[in-house]
Amino acid sequence: MDYKKLIVESGKEIVKRGFTVETWGNISAFDAEDGKVYLTPSAMKYDSISEEDVVVLDLEGNVLEGNRKPTIETGMHLGLYKARKDIRAIIHTHPMYSMIYACQGKNIPQFTDEAAQRLGGEVLCTAQYQLPGTAELAEEVVKAMPAEHMACLIRNHGAVCTGRDMNEAFKTATILEVTAQQLYMIESTGGRAIGIAQENIDYMWDFARNKYGQGK
Ligand SMILES: [Zn+2]
Repeated sequence: MDYKKLIVESGKEIVKRGFTVETWGNISAFDAEDGKVYLTPSAMKYDSISEEDVVVLDLEGNVLEGNRKPTIETGMHLGLYKARKDIRAIIHTHPMYSMIYACQGKNIPQFTDEAAQRLGGEVLCTAQYQLPGTAELAEEVVKAMPAEHMACLIRNHGAVCTGRDMNEAFKTATILEVTAQQLYMIESTGGRAIGIAQENIDYMWDFARNKYGQGK
């Protein structure tokens, strides 16, 4: 796997898909075999990032390769990889509808089958506001991502979307934003989303994670 290429291409993709604008947001991938984390550089437009700009660190934050400063949210990425052994890719987004809930400190429940299959639990919003790039923000995010949860909201800031690979992280980001938009539309037309029973959510999560796809 060419992780540097993956980061460069994923950067172009998050802008194309409307998950962020300008230089906001950041992306990483974790190569568990040699313990390397590949991160987007700080404050560079996604269409200007090339493979030499990708910063490679170990889990303790020591720079192994690259001359750029890594994203200011490096601590958040490293914290999540250390806390969650199943996570191998992280996309930090600033998308419209998820942000509406992040700014209200609200969680996003799972009320559709696709949310049940991809989000791994109610999407929690961090409990306290913290400044961008701080150790406190990283701690809040790790707390809002207990086992199996694949996404969380950062209060007044955005969302964190993860997966066992980059493809899954993009699916998480897509489903989270679609779910937030659906919830907004339900609420703005005076409605209420009816929840799905936990046993059905559990069944779909297990199926999507372990059995869905060709040849499983
Ligand atoms: Zn951000």
